[in-house]
Amino acid sequence: MTALSYVSGPSEEPLLGLTIGQALARAAETWPNRPALISPSHGVHWTWREFRARARNLASGLLALGLTRGERIGCWSLNRPEWALTQFAAAEAGLVFVTLNPAYRLHELQYALTKVGCAALVTATSFKTSDFIGMVNALAPELAQSRPGALKADGLPDLRMVIQIGETAPGALAFEAVAKGAPDQFAALDALAPELQFDDPANIQFTSGTTGSPKGVTLSHHNILNNGYFTGRAMRLAPEDRICIPVPLYHCFGMVMGNLAAVTLGSAMVYPGEGFDPLATLKTVESERCTALYGVPTMFIAELDHPEFERFDLSSLRTGIMAGAPCPIAVMRKVVERMHMRDVTIAYGMTETSPVSFQSGLEDTMERRVTTIGRVHPHVEVKIVDKEGRVVPRGTPGELCTRGYSVMSGYWGEAEKTRECKDAAGWMHTGDLAVIDAEGYGNIVGRIKDMVIRGGENLYPREIEEFLFKHPKVQDVQVFGVADARYGEELCAWVRVRPGETLTAEEVRGFCQGQIAHNKIPRYVEFVAEFPMTVTGKAQKFLMRAAVEERLGLRKAETA
Ligand code: AMP
Repeated sequence: MTALSYVSGPSEEPLLGLTIGQALARAAETWPNRPALISPSHGVHWTWREFRARARNLASGLLALGLTRGERIGCWSLNRPEWALTQFAAAEAGLVFVTLNPAYRLHELQYALTKVGCAALVTATSFKTSDFIGMVNALAPELAQSRPGALKADGLPDLRMVIQIGETAPGALAFEAVAKGAPDQFAALDALAPELQFDDPANIQFTSGTTGSPKGVTLSHHNILNNGYFTGRAMRLAPEDRICIPVPLYHCFGMVMGNLAAVTLGSAMVYPGEGFDPLATLKTVESERCTALYGVPTMFIAELDHPEFERFDLSSLRTGIMAGAPCPIAVMRKVVERMHMRDVTIAYGMTETSPVSFQSGLEDTMERRVTTIGRVHPHVEVKIVDKEGRVVPRGTPGELCTRGYSVMSGYWGEAEKTRECKDAAGWMHTGDLAVIDAEGYGNIVGRIKDMVIRGGENLYPREIEEFLFKHPKVQDVQVFGVADARYGEELCAWVRVRPGETLTAEEVRGFCQGQIAHNKIPRYVEFVAEFPMTVTGKAQKFLMRAAVEERLGLRKAETA
Protein backbone atom coordinates (compact mmCIF):
# COMPACT_ATOMS: atom_id res chain seq x y z
CA MET A 1 0.00 0.00 0.00
CA THR A 2 1.33 3.46 -0.82
CA ALA A 3 2.12 5.55 2.22
CA LEU A 4 -0.43 8.25 2.88
CA SER A 5 0.06 11.87 3.92
CA TYR A 6 -0.81 11.41 7.58
CA VAL A 7 1.72 12.17 10.30
CA SER A 8 1.46 12.39 14.06
CA GLY A 9 4.18 13.80 16.24
CA PRO A 10 5.65 11.44 18.82
CA SER A 11 7.01 12.80 22.06
CA GLU A 12 8.63 11.35 25.11
CA GLU A 13 7.58 14.51 26.82
CA PRO A 14 4.07 14.90 28.15
CA LEU A 15 1.96 17.98 27.60
CA LEU A 16 2.01 20.57 30.38
CA GLY A 17 -1.18 20.62 32.41
CA LEU A 18 -0.81 24.16 33.71
CA THR A 19 -2.51 27.50 33.48
CA ILE A 20 -0.37 30.42 32.35
CA GLY A 21 -0.44 31.72 35.94
CA GLN A 22 0.88 28.41 37.25
CA ALA A 23 3.60 28.41 34.59
CA LEU A 24 4.67 31.88 35.68
CA ALA A 25 4.72 30.85 39.35
CA ARG A 26 6.85 27.86 38.40
CA ALA A 27 9.27 30.08 36.45
CA ALA A 28 9.64 32.44 39.43
CA GLU A 29 10.36 29.50 41.76
CA THR A 30 12.69 27.64 39.43
CA TRP A 31 14.68 30.52 37.95
CA PRO A 32 14.12 33.40 40.40
CA ASN A 33 17.27 35.32 39.55
CA ARG A 34 17.55 34.65 35.86
CA PRO A 35 16.51 37.39 33.45
CA ALA A 36 12.88 37.24 32.36
CA LEU A 37 12.36 40.44 30.41
CA ILE A 38 14.93 42.77 28.92
CA SER A 39 13.80 45.87 27.05
CA PRO A 40 16.77 48.22 26.71
CA SER A 41 14.78 51.12 25.24
CA HIS A 42 12.50 51.08 28.31
CA GLY A 43 15.35 50.55 30.78
CA VAL A 44 13.85 47.22 31.84
CA HIS A 45 15.88 44.27 33.16
CA TRP A 46 13.56 42.10 35.24
CA THR A 47 14.25 38.66 36.70
CA TRP A 48 11.55 35.99 36.75
CA ARG A 49 10.92 36.71 40.44
CA GLU A 50 10.49 40.41 39.79
CA PHE A 51 8.45 39.89 36.63
CA ARG A 52 6.03 37.61 38.45
CA ALA A 53 5.69 40.04 41.36
CA ARG A 54 4.86 42.83 38.92
CA ALA A 55 2.38 40.70 37.00
CA ARG A 56 0.67 39.73 40.27
CA ASN A 57 0.48 43.35 41.35
CA LEU A 58 -1.14 44.28 38.09
CA ALA A 59 -3.54 41.31 38.37
CA SER A 60 -4.58 42.51 41.83
CA GLY A 61 -5.09 46.00 40.43
CA LEU A 62 -7.36 44.61 37.71
CA LEU A 63 -9.46 42.71 40.27
CA ALA A 64 -9.72 45.89 42.35
CA LEU A 65 -11.27 47.61 39.33
CA GLY A 66 -14.08 45.08 39.44
CA LEU A 67 -13.06 42.92 36.49
CA THR A 68 -14.25 39.37 36.96
CA ARG A 69 -13.25 35.93 35.72
CA GLY A 70 -13.97 35.39 32.03
CA GLU A 71 -14.29 39.08 31.12
CA ARG A 72 -12.27 40.32 28.16
CA ILE A 73 -9.42 42.79 28.41
CA GLY A 74 -7.98 44.24 25.22
CA CYS A 75 -4.39 45.35 24.74
CA TRP A 76 -3.54 47.91 22.07
CA SER A 77 0.14 48.73 22.02
CA LEU A 78 3.39 47.97 20.33
CA ASN A 79 6.03 45.78 22.00
CA ARG A 80 6.48 47.20 25.47
CA PRO A 81 7.10 45.68 28.91
CA GLU A 82 3.55 46.67 29.88
CA TRP A 83 2.28 44.40 27.10
CA ALA A 84 3.94 41.32 28.63
CA LEU A 85 2.80 42.31 32.12
CA THR A 86 -0.77 42.62 30.93
CA GLN A 87 -0.60 39.25 29.16
CA PHE A 88 0.43 37.44 32.34
CA ALA A 89 -1.66 39.57 34.72
CA ALA A 90 -4.80 38.91 32.68
CA ALA A 91 -4.11 35.17 32.91
CA GLU A 92 -3.61 35.36 36.71
CA ALA A 93 -6.81 37.34 37.09
CA GLY A 94 -8.76 34.81 34.98
CA LEU A 95 -9.45 37.36 32.25
CA VAL A 96 -9.41 36.66 28.53
CA PHE A 97 -6.59 38.62 26.99
CA VAL A 98 -7.58 40.15 23.65
CA THR A 99 -4.66 41.17 21.45
CA LEU A 100 -5.27 44.08 19.10
CA ASN A 101 -3.13 44.94 16.13
CA PRO A 102 -1.49 48.35 16.68
CA ALA A 103 -2.03 49.05 12.98
CA TYR A 104 -5.80 49.02 13.53
CA ARG A 105 -7.66 52.20 12.77
CA LEU A 106 -11.11 53.34 13.91
CA HIS A 107 -13.27 50.91 12.00
CA GLU A 108 -11.20 47.86 12.91
CA LEU A 109 -10.75 48.79 16.58
CA GLN A 110 -14.44 49.36 17.11
CA TYR A 111 -15.30 46.09 15.40
CA ALA A 112 -12.85 44.02 17.46
CA LEU A 113 -13.68 45.54 20.85
CA THR A 114 -17.40 45.18 20.24
CA LYS A 115 -17.23 41.71 18.72
CA VAL A 116 -15.78 40.11 21.84
CA GLY A 117 -17.23 42.63 24.28
CA CYS A 118 -14.08 43.97 25.91
CA ALA A 119 -14.79 45.36 29.37
CA ALA A 120 -11.35 46.93 29.69
CA LEU A 121 -8.80 48.27 27.26
CA VAL A 122 -5.12 48.74 28.01
CA THR A 123 -3.84 51.20 25.44
CA ALA A 124 -0.57 52.91 24.63
CA THR A 125 -0.72 56.69 24.28
CA SER A 126 0.90 56.99 20.85
CA PHE A 127 3.66 55.64 18.66
CA LYS A 128 5.09 57.57 15.71
CA THR A 129 2.02 58.71 13.77
CA SER A 130 -0.41 56.44 15.64
CA ASP A 131 -2.41 58.44 18.15
CA PHE A 132 -3.93 55.52 20.05
CA ILE A 133 -5.64 57.51 22.79
CA GLY A 134 -6.93 59.98 20.22
CA MET A 135 -8.57 57.14 18.31
CA VAL A 136 -10.09 55.72 21.51
CA ASN A 137 -11.51 59.16 22.20
CA ALA A 138 -12.87 59.37 18.67
CA LEU A 139 -14.78 56.11 19.19
CA ALA A 140 -15.80 56.97 22.75
CA PRO A 141 -16.09 60.76 23.01
CA GLU A 142 -17.84 60.19 26.35
CA LEU A 143 -14.49 59.17 27.87
CA ALA A 144 -13.27 62.66 28.70
CA GLN A 145 -16.38 63.39 30.80
CA SER A 146 -16.60 60.06 32.54
CA ARG A 147 -15.31 58.94 35.93
CA PRO A 148 -12.24 56.70 35.38
CA GLY A 149 -13.43 53.09 35.36
CA ALA A 150 -17.08 53.99 34.75
CA LEU A 151 -17.21 54.64 31.04
CA LYS A 152 -20.50 54.41 29.18
CA ALA A 153 -20.02 54.95 25.48
CA ASP A 154 -22.54 54.41 22.69
CA GLY A 155 -19.84 53.39 20.21
CA LEU A 156 -18.23 50.85 22.56
CA PRO A 157 -21.11 49.59 24.69
CA ASP A 158 -19.23 46.93 26.71
CA LEU A 159 -16.17 48.99 27.54
CA ARG A 160 -16.06 50.16 31.17
CA MET A 161 -12.48 51.27 31.49
CA VAL A 162 -9.51 52.56 29.55
CA ILE A 163 -6.13 51.96 31.16
CA GLN A 164 -3.54 54.17 29.53
CA ILE A 165 0.19 53.52 29.34
CA GLY A 166 2.47 56.55 29.69
CA GLU A 167 0.13 59.48 30.06
CA THR A 168 -3.37 59.77 31.53
CA ALA A 169 -6.06 61.39 29.42
CA PRO A 170 -9.26 62.66 31.09
CA GLY A 171 -11.45 59.70 32.00
CA ALA A 172 -8.64 57.13 31.67
CA LEU A 173 -6.89 55.18 34.43
CA ALA A 174 -3.11 55.35 34.67
CA PHE A 175 -1.46 52.00 33.90
CA GLU A 176 1.21 52.80 36.49
CA ALA A 177 -1.39 53.22 39.21
CA VAL A 178 -3.20 49.98 38.37
CA ALA A 179 0.14 48.16 38.13
CA LYS A 180 1.12 49.26 41.65
CA GLY A 181 -1.42 46.71 42.79
CA ALA A 182 -4.09 46.39 45.41
CA PRO A 183 -2.74 44.37 48.35
CA ASP A 184 -6.25 43.76 49.64
CA GLN A 185 -6.87 41.70 46.48
CA PHE A 186 -4.01 39.21 46.95
CA ALA A 187 -6.20 36.86 48.97
CA ALA A 188 -8.77 36.95 46.16
CA LEU A 189 -6.04 36.19 43.60
CA ASP A 190 -4.82 33.23 45.67
CA ALA A 191 -8.35 31.93 45.97
CA LEU A 192 -8.90 32.32 42.24
CA ALA A 193 -5.76 30.44 41.13
CA PRO A 194 -7.00 26.88 41.85
CA GLU A 195 -10.39 27.73 40.34
CA LEU A 196 -8.88 28.58 36.96
CA GLN A 197 -8.58 25.64 34.60
CA PHE A 198 -6.10 25.17 31.80
CA ASP A 199 -8.93 24.60 29.36
CA ASP A 200 -10.39 28.05 30.12
CA PRO A 201 -10.12 30.58 27.29
CA ALA A 202 -7.05 32.71 27.90
CA ASN A 203 -6.61 34.64 24.71
CA ILE A 204 -8.44 35.97 21.66
CA GLN A 205 -6.45 36.91 18.56
CA PHE A 206 -8.07 38.36 15.49
CA THR A 207 -7.65 36.86 12.07
CA SER A 208 -9.75 37.65 9.06
CA GLY A 209 -10.22 34.35 7.31
CA THR A 210 -11.61 34.57 3.82
CA THR A 211 -14.97 35.85 4.88
CA GLY A 212 -14.26 39.54 5.20
CA SER A 213 -14.54 40.73 8.76
CA PRO A 214 -12.04 39.69 11.42
CA LYS A 215 -12.84 36.71 13.62
CA GLY A 216 -11.68 36.22 17.21
CA VAL A 217 -9.66 33.02 17.49
CA THR A 218 -10.29 31.76 21.02
CA LEU A 219 -7.38 29.91 22.58
CA SER A 220 -7.05 28.27 25.99
CA HIS A 221 -4.13 28.24 28.42
CA HIS A 222 -3.53 24.64 27.33
CA ASN A 223 -3.46 25.54 23.64
CA ILE A 224 -0.92 28.29 23.75
CA LEU A 225 1.23 27.36 26.75
CA ASN A 226 2.01 23.95 25.30
CA ASN A 227 2.65 25.36 21.86
CA GLY A 228 5.11 27.89 23.27
CA TYR A 229 6.79 25.10 25.21
CA PHE A 230 7.22 22.68 22.32
CA THR A 231 8.31 25.43 19.94
CA GLY A 232 11.05 26.35 22.42
CA ARG A 233 11.96 22.68 22.94
CA ALA A 234 12.53 22.27 19.21
CA MET A 235 15.30 24.88 19.53
CA ARG A 236 16.47 23.35 22.83
CA LEU A 237 15.95 26.63 24.60
CA ALA A 238 17.27 26.70 28.16
CA PRO A 239 17.48 29.29 30.96
CA GLU A 240 20.77 30.52 29.49
CA ASP A 241 19.03 31.52 26.25
CA ARG A 242 17.96 35.04 25.40
CA ILE A 243 15.34 35.35 22.70
CA CYS A 244 15.38 38.53 20.66
CA ILE A 245 11.72 39.22 19.76
CA PRO A 246 11.33 41.88 17.06
CA VAL A 247 8.09 40.28 15.84
CA PRO A 248 4.86 41.87 17.07
CA LEU A 249 3.56 40.67 20.43
CA TYR A 250 -0.08 41.03 19.36
CA HIS A 251 0.52 38.11 16.98
CA CYS A 252 1.08 34.51 18.10
CA PHE A 253 4.69 34.66 16.90
CA GLY A 254 5.56 37.15 19.65
CA MET A 255 3.20 36.20 22.44
CA VAL A 256 3.26 32.39 22.12
CA MET A 257 6.50 31.43 20.39
CA GLY A 258 8.27 34.26 22.24
CA ASN A 259 6.78 34.98 25.65
CA LEU A 260 5.27 31.57 26.38
CA ALA A 261 8.33 29.66 25.17
CA ALA A 262 10.34 31.81 27.58
CA VAL A 263 8.12 31.27 30.62
CA THR A 264 8.02 27.50 30.17
CA LEU A 265 11.77 27.11 29.60
CA GLY A 266 13.20 29.93 31.72
CA SER A 267 14.77 31.83 28.80
CA ALA A 268 14.77 35.62 28.64
CA MET A 269 12.41 37.66 26.44
CA VAL A 270 14.38 40.48 24.83
CA TYR A 271 12.46 43.30 23.10
CA PRO A 272 14.67 45.26 20.72
CA GLY A 273 12.11 48.04 20.32
CA GLU A 274 8.44 48.85 20.01
CA GLY A 275 8.12 48.55 16.25
CA PHE A 276 10.39 46.54 13.98
CA ASP A 277 13.64 48.29 13.18
CA PRO A 278 16.46 46.25 11.61
CA LEU A 279 19.20 48.40 13.09
CA ALA A 280 17.77 48.30 16.62
CA THR A 281 17.42 44.53 16.28
CA LEU A 282 21.05 44.06 15.25
CA LYS A 283 22.20 46.38 18.04
CA THR A 284 20.16 44.55 20.65
CA VAL A 285 21.37 41.11 19.56
CA GLU A 286 24.91 42.36 20.01
CA SER A 287 24.50 44.31 23.25
CA GLU A 288 22.31 41.73 25.02
CA ARG A 289 24.23 38.75 23.63
CA CYS A 290 21.03 37.19 22.35
CA THR A 291 21.22 33.49 21.49
CA ALA A 292 17.98 33.26 19.50
CA LEU A 293 16.41 35.59 16.97
CA TYR A 294 12.89 35.47 15.57
CA GLY A 295 11.51 37.01 12.44
CA VAL A 296 9.28 36.74 9.43
CA PRO A 297 11.33 36.43 6.21
CA THR A 298 11.06 40.15 5.47
CA MET A 299 12.66 41.06 8.78
CA PHE A 300 15.67 38.82 8.21
CA ILE A 301 16.03 40.28 4.71
CA ALA A 302 16.00 43.82 6.13
CA GLU A 303 18.62 42.92 8.73
CA LEU A 304 20.93 41.16 6.26
CA ASP A 305 20.58 44.00 3.75
CA HIS A 306 21.20 46.73 6.26
CA PRO A 307 24.19 48.88 5.23
CA GLU A 308 25.66 48.58 8.74
CA PHE A 309 25.17 44.82 9.01
CA GLU A 310 28.90 44.03 9.00
CA ARG A 311 29.52 46.28 11.97
CA PHE A 312 27.73 43.99 14.43
CA ASP A 313 29.04 41.06 16.39
CA LEU A 314 26.27 38.49 16.15
CA SER A 315 28.40 35.56 17.32
CA SER A 316 26.21 35.01 20.38
CA LEU A 317 23.38 33.80 18.12
CA ARG A 318 22.78 30.08 17.90
CA THR A 319 19.16 29.49 16.98
CA GLY A 320 15.86 31.16 16.17
CA ILE A 321 12.78 30.88 14.05
CA MET A 322 11.79 32.08 10.62
CA ALA A 323 8.05 31.70 10.05
CA GLY A 324 4.80 33.38 9.13
CA ALA A 325 5.22 33.32 5.36
CA PRO A 326 7.02 31.21 2.78
CA CYS A 327 10.70 31.26 3.79
CA PRO A 328 13.15 31.93 0.96
CA ILE A 329 15.82 29.23 0.84
CA ALA A 330 18.52 31.75 -0.05
CA VAL A 331 17.68 33.86 2.98
CA MET A 332 17.75 30.81 5.27
CA ARG A 333 21.23 29.99 4.03
CA LYS A 334 22.40 33.53 4.72
CA VAL A 335 20.92 33.46 8.22
CA VAL A 336 23.01 30.37 8.95
CA GLU A 337 26.19 31.66 7.36
CA ARG A 338 26.17 35.37 8.10
CA MET A 339 24.17 35.54 11.34
CA HIS A 340 25.73 32.41 12.92
CA MET A 341 22.30 30.87 13.46
CA ARG A 342 23.48 27.30 12.87
CA ASP A 343 20.48 25.91 14.78
CA VAL A 344 17.86 28.10 13.08
CA THR A 345 14.46 26.49 12.53
CA ILE A 346 11.51 27.14 10.26
CA ALA A 347 8.08 26.94 11.82
CA TYR A 348 4.75 26.68 10.08
CA GLY A 349 1.32 27.18 11.55
CA MET A 350 -1.63 29.47 11.91
CA THR A 351 -3.27 31.41 14.73
CA GLU A 352 -6.14 28.89 14.88
CA THR A 353 -3.65 26.14 15.78
CA SER A 354 -1.86 28.04 18.55
CA PRO A 355 0.06 28.49 16.03
CA VAL A 356 2.83 25.96 15.28
CA SER A 357 2.22 22.51 13.79
CA PHE A 358 5.43 21.95 11.79
CA GLN A 359 8.96 22.91 12.75
CA SER A 360 12.40 21.83 11.73
CA GLY A 361 14.54 20.28 14.43
CA LEU A 362 18.20 20.59 15.30
CA GLU A 363 18.76 16.97 14.28
CA ASP A 364 17.59 17.65 10.71
CA THR A 365 20.20 18.09 8.02
CA MET A 366 21.02 21.64 7.03
CA GLU A 367 19.55 20.99 3.61
CA ARG A 368 16.23 19.91 5.11
CA ARG A 369 16.30 22.79 7.55
CA VAL A 370 16.52 25.45 4.89
CA THR A 371 14.30 23.85 2.26
CA THR A 372 11.36 22.40 4.25
CA ILE A 373 9.11 23.40 7.14
CA GLY A 374 10.43 20.39 9.08
CA ARG A 375 8.24 17.69 10.58
CA VAL A 376 5.04 17.60 12.57
CA HIS A 377 5.17 18.94 16.14
CA PRO A 378 4.95 16.61 19.17
CA HIS A 379 1.39 15.56 20.08
CA VAL A 380 0.00 17.07 16.86
CA GLU A 381 -1.55 15.26 13.88
CA VAL A 382 -1.50 16.49 10.30
CA LYS A 383 -3.08 15.05 7.18
CA ILE A 384 -3.11 16.28 3.60
CA VAL A 385 -6.42 15.83 1.80
CA ASP A 386 -7.80 16.26 -1.68
CA LYS A 387 -10.93 18.23 -2.58
CA GLU A 388 -13.14 15.34 -1.48
CA GLY A 389 -11.44 15.12 1.90
CA ARG A 390 -9.49 11.92 1.11
CA VAL A 391 -5.96 11.58 2.47
CA VAL A 392 -3.56 11.79 -0.50
CA PRO A 393 -0.42 9.69 -1.06
CA ARG A 394 2.89 11.06 0.19
CA GLY A 395 4.31 13.59 -2.22
CA THR A 396 0.92 14.67 -3.54
CA PRO A 397 -0.21 18.22 -2.79
CA GLY A 398 -3.48 18.88 -0.99
CA GLU A 399 -4.98 20.86 1.84
CA LEU A 400 -3.17 20.65 5.16
CA CYS A 401 -5.41 19.80 8.14
CA THR A 402 -4.28 19.86 11.77
CA ARG A 403 -5.70 18.15 14.86
CA GLY A 404 -4.64 17.99 18.46
CA TYR A 405 -4.28 19.92 21.70
CA SER A 406 -3.36 23.02 19.69
CA VAL A 407 -6.58 23.56 17.77
CA MET A 408 -8.66 26.54 18.92
CA SER A 409 -12.01 26.01 20.58
CA GLY A 410 -13.49 28.26 17.90
CA TYR A 411 -14.09 31.79 16.68
CA TRP A 412 -15.64 33.90 19.42
CA GLY A 413 -19.40 34.04 18.95
CA GLU A 414 -19.20 32.58 15.42
CA ALA A 415 -20.34 28.96 15.65
CA GLU A 416 -21.16 28.83 11.96
CA LYS A 417 -17.77 30.11 10.83
CA THR A 418 -16.06 27.76 13.26
CA ARG A 419 -17.85 24.80 11.67
CA GLU A 420 -16.72 25.93 8.22
CA CYS A 421 -13.07 25.27 9.08
CA LYS A 422 -13.09 22.90 12.08
CA ASP A 423 -14.85 19.64 11.33
CA ALA A 424 -16.68 17.21 13.59
CA ALA A 425 -13.59 15.03 13.96
CA GLY A 426 -11.64 18.01 15.28
CA TRP A 427 -9.56 18.77 12.17
CA MET A 428 -8.73 22.39 11.45
CA HIS A 429 -8.77 22.92 7.69
CA THR A 430 -6.00 25.45 7.17
CA GLY A 431 -6.58 26.45 3.56
CA ASP A 432 -2.85 25.95 2.94
CA LEU A 433 -1.68 23.61 0.19
CA ALA A 434 1.18 21.38 1.28
CA VAL A 435 3.11 18.24 0.47
CA ILE A 436 4.56 15.73 2.94
CA ASP A 437 7.44 13.56 1.71
CA ALA A 438 8.25 9.94 2.55
CA GLU A 439 10.13 10.93 5.70
CA GLY A 440 7.47 13.31 6.93
CA TYR A 441 9.02 16.63 5.92
CA GLY A 442 6.58 19.27 4.77
CA ASN A 443 6.55 21.96 2.11
CA ILE A 444 3.99 24.69 1.68
CA VAL A 445 3.17 24.94 -2.00
CA GLY A 446 0.32 27.43 -2.11
CA ARG A 447 -2.93 28.52 -0.60
CA ILE A 448 -6.54 27.72 -1.29
CA LYS A 449 -7.71 30.66 0.71
CA ASP A 450 -7.80 34.06 -0.80
CA MET A 451 -5.12 35.52 1.41
CA VAL A 452 -2.10 37.69 0.76
CA ILE A 453 0.94 37.55 3.01
CA ARG A 454 2.81 40.83 2.91
CA GLY A 455 5.96 40.78 5.01
CA GLY A 456 4.55 38.02 7.21
CA GLU A 457 1.29 39.86 7.84
CA ASN A 458 -1.84 38.21 6.56
CA LEU A 459 -4.08 40.46 4.54
CA TYR A 460 -7.50 39.40 3.43
CA PRO A 461 -8.51 40.83 0.05
CA ARG A 462 -12.16 40.36 0.83
CA GLU A 463 -11.96 42.67 3.83
CA ILE A 464 -10.20 45.36 1.78
CA GLU A 465 -12.61 44.96 -1.12
CA GLU A 466 -15.53 45.45 1.23
CA PHE A 467 -13.97 48.63 2.49
CA LEU A 468 -13.22 49.98 -1.02
CA PHE A 469 -16.79 49.26 -2.07
CA LYS A 470 -17.81 52.05 0.29
CA HIS A 471 -16.20 54.58 -2.05
CA PRO A 472 -19.04 56.22 -4.00
CA LYS A 473 -17.16 56.14 -7.32
CA VAL A 474 -16.20 52.46 -7.09
CA GLN A 475 -18.40 50.19 -9.15
CA ASP A 476 -16.51 46.99 -8.54
CA VAL A 477 -13.14 46.06 -7.13
CA GLN A 478 -10.83 43.07 -6.89
CA VAL A 479 -7.88 42.98 -4.55
CA PHE A 480 -5.10 40.40 -4.96
CA GLY A 481 -1.46 39.78 -4.16
CA VAL A 482 1.42 40.24 -6.58
CA ALA A 483 4.97 39.00 -6.12
CA ASP A 484 7.44 41.24 -4.39
CA ALA A 485 11.09 40.44 -3.81
CA ARG A 486 11.14 42.25 -0.47
CA TYR A 487 7.75 41.62 1.14
CA GLY A 488 6.97 38.31 -0.57
CA GLU A 489 3.72 39.85 -1.79
CA GLU A 490 2.21 43.29 -2.24
CA LEU A 491 -1.41 44.24 -2.65
CA CYS A 492 -2.89 45.29 -5.94
CA ALA A 493 -6.42 46.61 -6.46
CA TRP A 494 -8.21 46.50 -9.79
CA VAL A 495 -11.03 49.01 -9.79
CA ARG A 496 -13.95 49.49 -12.14
CA VAL A 497 -15.15 53.07 -11.86
CA ARG A 498 -18.83 53.99 -12.00
CA PRO A 499 -19.93 55.20 -15.44
CA GLY A 500 -19.33 58.92 -15.93
CA GLU A 501 -16.93 59.19 -12.97
CA THR A 502 -13.17 59.51 -12.85
CA LEU A 503 -10.95 58.29 -10.09
CA THR A 504 -7.20 58.30 -9.41
CA ALA A 505 -4.99 55.91 -7.48
CA GLU A 506 -4.22 58.74 -5.03
CA GLU A 507 -7.90 59.26 -4.36
CA VAL A 508 -8.36 55.57 -3.63
CA ARG A 509 -5.41 55.45 -1.28
CA GLY A 510 -6.45 58.70 0.39
CA PHE A 511 -9.85 57.18 1.08
CA CYS A 512 -8.17 54.35 3.01
CA GLN A 513 -5.83 56.58 5.01
CA GLY A 514 -6.67 56.61 8.71
CA GLN A 515 -9.58 54.22 8.20
CA ILE A 516 -7.81 50.92 7.61
CA ALA A 517 -4.35 49.80 8.63
CA HIS A 518 -1.62 51.22 6.38
CA ASN A 519 -0.45 47.77 5.26
CA LYS A 520 -3.92 47.05 3.88
CA ILE A 521 -3.75 50.04 1.55
CA PRO A 522 -2.95 48.62 -1.89
CA ARG A 523 0.47 49.52 -3.21
CA TYR A 524 -0.81 49.23 -6.79
CA VAL A 525 -4.18 50.65 -7.79
CA GLU A 526 -5.17 50.12 -11.40
CA PHE A 527 -8.33 50.92 -13.32
CA VAL A 528 -9.85 48.33 -15.65
CA ALA A 529 -12.94 47.98 -17.78
CA GLU A 530 -13.57 44.38 -16.75
CA PHE A 531 -12.17 41.46 -14.77
CA PRO A 532 -11.25 38.02 -16.10
CA MET A 533 -14.11 35.78 -14.95
CA THR A 534 -14.99 32.09 -15.08
CA VAL A 535 -18.25 31.04 -16.70
CA THR A 536 -19.71 30.67 -13.22
CA GLY A 537 -18.88 34.29 -12.50
CA LYS A 538 -15.87 33.81 -10.22
CA ALA A 539 -13.18 36.41 -10.64
CA GLN A 540 -9.92 34.81 -11.69
CA LYS A 541 -7.41 36.51 -9.49
CA PHE A 542 -4.56 34.32 -10.68
CA LEU A 543 -4.97 35.84 -14.16
CA MET A 544 -5.04 39.37 -12.77
CA ARG A 545 -1.96 38.59 -10.74
CA ALA A 546 -0.12 37.12 -13.71
CA ALA A 547 -1.00 40.12 -15.90
CA VAL A 548 0.30 42.66 -13.39
CA GLU A 549 3.43 40.66 -12.57
CA GLU A 550 4.27 40.28 -16.23
CA ARG A 551 3.65 43.93 -17.08
CA LEU A 552 5.60 45.25 -14.10
CA GLY A 553 8.25 42.50 -14.13
CA LEU A 554 7.56 41.42 -10.54
CA ARG A 555 9.18 38.26 -9.18
CA LYS A 556 9.29 36.38 -5.89
CA ALA A 557 12.11 34.42 -4.26
CA GLU A 558 12.30 30.59 -4.09
CA THR A 559 10.95 29.33 -0.74
CA ALA A 560 10.83 26.36 1.68
P1 AMP B 1 -1.28 33.48 11.07
O1 AMP B 1 -2.63 33.00 11.43
O2 AMP B 1 -1.14 34.96 11.08
O3 AMP B 1 -0.23 32.84 11.93
O4 AMP B 1 -0.99 33.07 9.56
C1 AMP B 1 -1.08 31.74 9.17
C2 AMP B 1 -0.73 31.57 7.72
O5 AMP B 1 0.60 32.02 7.44
C3 AMP B 1 -0.73 30.11 7.34
O6 AMP B 1 -2.04 29.63 7.09
C4 AMP B 1 0.17 30.11 6.11
O7 AMP B 1 -0.55 30.49 4.96
C5 AMP B 1 1.19 31.18 6.43
N1 AMP B 1 2.45 30.62 6.97
C6 AMP B 1 2.84 30.56 8.26
N2 AMP B 1 4.05 30.00 8.38
C7 AMP B 1 4.46 29.67 7.14
C8 AMP B 1 5.64 29.04 6.59
N3 AMP B 1 6.66 28.66 7.35
N4 AMP B 1 5.67 28.86 5.25
C9 AMP B 1 4.64 29.24 4.45
N5 AMP B 1 3.53 29.84 4.90
C10 AMP B 1 3.42 30.06 6.22
